[in-house]
Amino acid sequence: MTSLTAPGRGPRELITLDAQVATKHEAIAQAAAALVAAGCVRSGFEASMMRREAVSNTYLGKGIAIPHGTVEDRDLILQDAIAVLQVREGVEWNAGERARLVVAIAARSDGHIDILRRLTRLLQDEERLAALAATDDRQALSDALNGLAARGEAAGEPATDFAQRFDWTMDYPTGLHARPATEWAEAARRFPCRIRVRHGPEMADARNMISLLGLGLKQGDLLTVSAEGQGAAEALAAMKATLTGLSAREKADAARAEEKRRATAAAGGWLPSGAAQAVEGVPAAPGLAIGRIVRMQPEGMEIPDEPIELGRAADLLHVALAQTAEQLHALADDTARRLGESDAAIFRAQAGLLADPDLITLASQWLVEGHGLAWAWHRAYEDMAARLSALRNPVLAARAADLRDVGRRVLAHIDARFARSSLSDLPEGTILVADDISPSDAAGLDAHRVAGLVTALGGPTSHTAILARTLGLPAVVGAGAGVEGLQSGTRAIIDGHGGRLWLDPAEEDLASARDWIAAEEARRARAAEARALPATTRDGHRIDIGANINLAEQAAFALDQGAEGVGLMRTEFLFLERSDSPTEDEQMEAYSAMARALEGRPLVIRALDIGGDKQVAHLDLPREENPFLGVRGARLLLRRRDLLLPQLRAIYRAAASGSQISVMFPMVTSRGELLELRETCERIRQELAAPVVPLGIMVEVPSAALLAAELAAHADFFSIGTNDLTQYALAIDRQNPQLAAEADSLHPAVLRLIDLTVKGAEVHGRWVGVCGGIAGDPFGAALLAGLGVQELSMTPRDIPAVKERLRQSDRPALQALARRALACPDAEAVRALAAEAP
Ligand code: PEP
Ligand code: MG
Repeated sequence: MTSLTAPGRGPRELITLDAQVATKHEAIAQAAAALVAAGCVRSGFEASMMRREAVSNTYLGKGIAIPHGTVEDRDLILQDAIAVLQVREGVEWNAGERARLVVAIAARSDGHIDILRRLTRLLQDEERLAALAATDDRQALSDALNGLAARGEAAGEPATDFAQRFDWTMDYPTGLHARPATEWAEAARRFPCRIRVRHGPEMADARNMISLLGLGLKQGDLLTVSAEGQGAAEALAAMKATLTGLSAREKADAARAEEKRRATAAAGGWLPSGAAQAVEGVPAAPGLAIGRIVRMQPEGMEIPDEPIELGRAADLLHVALAQTAEQLHALADDTARRLGESDAAIFRAQAGLLADPDLITLASQWLVEGHGLAWAWHRAYEDMAARLSALRNPVLAARAADLRDVGRRVLAHIDARFARSSLSDLPEGTILVADDISPSDAAGLDAHRVAGLVTALGGPTSHTAILARTLGLPAVVGAGAGVEGLQSGTRAIIDGHGGRLWLDPAEEDLASARDWIAAEEARRARAAEARALPATTRDGHRIDIGANINLAEQAAFALDQGAEGVGLMRTEFLFLERSDSPTEDEQMEAYSAMARALEGRPLVIRALDIGGDKQVAHLDLPREENPFLGVRGARLLLRRRDLLLPQLRAIYRAAASGSQISVMFPMVTSRGELLELRETCERIRQELAAPVVPLGIMVEVPSAALLAAELAAHADFFSIGTNDLTQYALAIDRQNPQLAAEADSLHPAVLRLIDLTVKGAEVHGRWVGVCGGIAGDPFGAALLAGLGVQELSMTPRDIPAVKERLRQSDRPALQALARRALACPDAEAVRALAAEAP
């Protein structure tokens, strides 16, 4: 046994060539004895290593085992060291696994990671490993462990092509962005051979989408695709077909985007001056904002298994662990300053988890088996966390949660695609990008920190979009695969009106966006000045204007914006924002508080509308194949008296104090439902000796619109939910991102249903309102007024512009506009009327 440590170069190395050991225990004892003899560990270290063996698998793979002590015994270590036993015949480590190099590690902190990093680099070279297990050259072993001979291997792929290759000139107008890059990588992964894409001196692994994006390929760039190994020729043919096959789609997309740009420019929207890159989506809430992207990952995300060279994986893991540790220390310091040392301790403890050898070993084992780094790391911390949770010990369960939290942080450093942020500590100016944002997440957003929202899924009438409008946040939804690969930290401009997210804008574009935002604020300020005035047309016809708000705290702002009451209070948010159902008393207090805040103005409370995209976990409702067509709204209320009765009692009790409360029921589809609901209301009213409250229904399904006259006989008023009416009339799931652009509430089919509803209501002298999103669109509001709708209820921020629009109109002109719209063949034709509308 010889010690080969060079001064200042990491842990001491104690190498024993041709060690004679018959069992794993003997190997560990010999390694421990070497460490003790060299003064690196105290004598209890052998027992500590054996304890570790009892709970962990220290066999790394490919003939290498890495016994080490337990975390609790770290104080037995006096100096970082490794004891290497070369066991030429091998020694059985686990059943079927023989170790030929036993690398016993004594490391106090993250020295363990560094040693593993060097080992993992070595593990990729099986030939060299075989030689090391038989060599008489001690220096060769030392060099290998130190990574000397391996130096350079981790520096990434050399920029040379494989023998089989083809050249191609990038002809995608917007270059290689995330969507085609994903398809390239998918095509490459179908083949076992290695495939490279080179642009000048830059090289990318074709299987790795991020690596491809890193090439920054633009239109006109010449690139070389080359392959080596089994099926190389076939793989290259497939790659060529993929690359060229996408050209037509990319060109068509670019042409469509250009058309949209022209339309935006014609409508006075903001556009960048030059060729900026944008993610295209569907406009969901207007406004322009500048910020930085924060990519939010869903829980239980899929981590693709994208193998990379082992040595490189080890380096990347090392860097990610170091960055995370740094981040946690900074977070701990910051928390200590703001909240005190005891809160900061959480982050210090989390940093400790990063140095857990078990975790690193587990990840390394997956890497050695050929898995990708992000996959291996995710699997390692999830497995460990699952093991801890399974022990059903609350202390260990909390540790599992910490482990997942830390694991995710490291994952985000490994690959920014997997960055998940907590919605509570977003930095100011965040443009939140997510696959989807649940209504309750959106409700909890801090509008002072979040500048805008972009989602891959969802449609403009989804509840998330509605909440974004309420919060005054520009939102783009249905951006689909466009959000893939968007990196947290990227500067961007969100245009909620045009439905785009402009990436990495140039300085001049930032300046022009700031000017546009200032001009828009000035325009809003002008409209705001007149917002307190009623929405009375020039010829004296008044439209009532309500606000869609859910909490009493929002009332002051709504009134300030010019609301004359609340036309839609969505009560399901009382249930969505908590983990249990509010009691009757709590509901009564919420409704009374809203009525008080409105100071006698009308308040329309909508009974619970659960189902569809509003799922309340704690209600344990059965899963449905088609929740939008299932037990939703009134159907659910009639089946769940435990929800309906307390709510109605709470509303009647709130109404008893003399406020102007009305109730309406969502998703009523038949006369039978309405009669049953009325009866229930009347029974409760009598029980409570409460005053009569107007009972209305939402017209949200075509059957209700078509039978409006029959329903009007039993309803005191109608409020048309155009969001749902559009979804059901056009058979477009309001959440479906692919169809979001077509889910236009100004479609003539929807307008004709509204027309029928107004006419049906007239038969019994009932009033009709609209509380769907289109009521807040100035042009939509003008059309609805022309159709005879008497009340419009909307997100408070939309009120000033809608009032301004109506105040500039004459009723006969609005009626003429509505007639023309009803006769249009499609939504585009209706929208085109905006340019010439009165
Ligand atoms: C509607 O459907 O238009 C509506 C106002 O109800 P919600 O959006 O809550 O479903
Ligand atoms: Mg609805």
